[in-house]
Amino acid sequence: MKAAFLSALRQIEIGEAPEPRLAGPRDVLLRIDAVGVCGSDVHYYRTGRIGAAVVKFPFVLGHEFAGTIEKTGAGVRGLQPGQRVAVDPLVACGHCDQCRSDRPNTCRNQRFMGNPGELSGSLAEYLVLPEDCCYPIPASMTAGQAAMVEPLSIGVHSQRLSHMEAGSTIAILGSGPIGLSVLLACRAAADCTAYMTDLIDERLKMAAQLGARWTGNPQQGDIVKAIGEAEPTGVDIVFECAGEQETLDQAVELLKPGGTLVMVGIPEFDEVSFQAHSLRRKELTIKNVRRQNHCMAPAIELVSSGRINVDPLMTHHFPLREAGTAFDLVSGYRDGVIKAIIHVADQA
Ligand SMILES: [Zn+2]
Ligand SMILES: [Zn+2]
Repeated sequence: MKAAFLSALRQIEIGEAPEPRLAGPRDVLLRIDAVGVCGSDVHYYRTGRIGAAVVKFPFVLGHEFAGTIEKTGAGVRGLQPGQRVAVDPLVACGHCDQCRSDRPNTCRNQRFMGNPGELSGSLAEYLVLPEDCCYPIPASMTAGQAAMVEPLSIGVHSQRLSHMEAGSTIAILGSGPIGLSVLLACRAAADCTAYMTDLIDERLKMAAQLGARWTGNPQQGDIVKAIGEAEPTGVDIVFECAGEQETLDQAVELLKPGGTLVMVGIPEFDEVSFQAHSLRRKELTIKNVRRQNHCMAPAIELVSSGRINVDPLMTHHFPLREAGTAFDLVSGYRDGVIKAIIHVADQA
């Protein structure tokens, strides 16, 4: 089979790999249809590591994907060959304390597809994975939409953790695919007023198109002052989706006393800091987001029912042989890219 290998920093090569075989009775063989390029994929592409996870070249990236079941193990009950699915790329152990308390996203023995040292990724024609990772999708759903379900599920999980409700005012700092997924999830959940920021004007345009009340670029004006003028008592919830110290500082300033900071963004550094006295005087709640928990099925339902339209987020499409071009585009934030989708099945 063909696969796209990260063979060196900033180098993706299409090569041949042995077709994977079913290992356990509850495994399925999936023919990959579409893969979204994630910020974390691009991080490995540029630097070869995220924290302690270091790429050993060559390595196959990709964890936002959809495919068609090709073969099922003898113990698979709920899936049949020919069925189309969206995939949760997390494989939890199923028996640690976290799994037992229904928190597979913080499983102590978890392995993640496309994570160095864990599991191979989806930028390949076939992948073997446990049945439990597969979520059937309706025929009406495109492969691209199904590949968007994983990032959207993180938006849904973030919204649920935040306890936002009708009438909430929210700020989303960072308007990339995850920030925009948070916006879509919040707007689908309840009527809310959303303020959004980003350094890239095309992303702000997208945020406004998808329903943000106000958007601002911190390079062009003081966004804390501008949002503060519109919401003099502060906002109820800030979703920090940039992973920067600057946006965490803005979040503390923007929140009203009793407000909630939801940390969604993944910083590229090891430590962040907070103004202790602001946190305490405002009695702020800080919530961290680790992937998602039980939000794949709700995200599929939100997309298939039409309550959320993810199509505008898929700004670019490539065949597998142009995977390198897709990574280069996303890495350079060029051409207004939000999400690049790689169509594996369309490979000529
Ligand atoms: Zn991702
Ligand atoms: Zn576990």
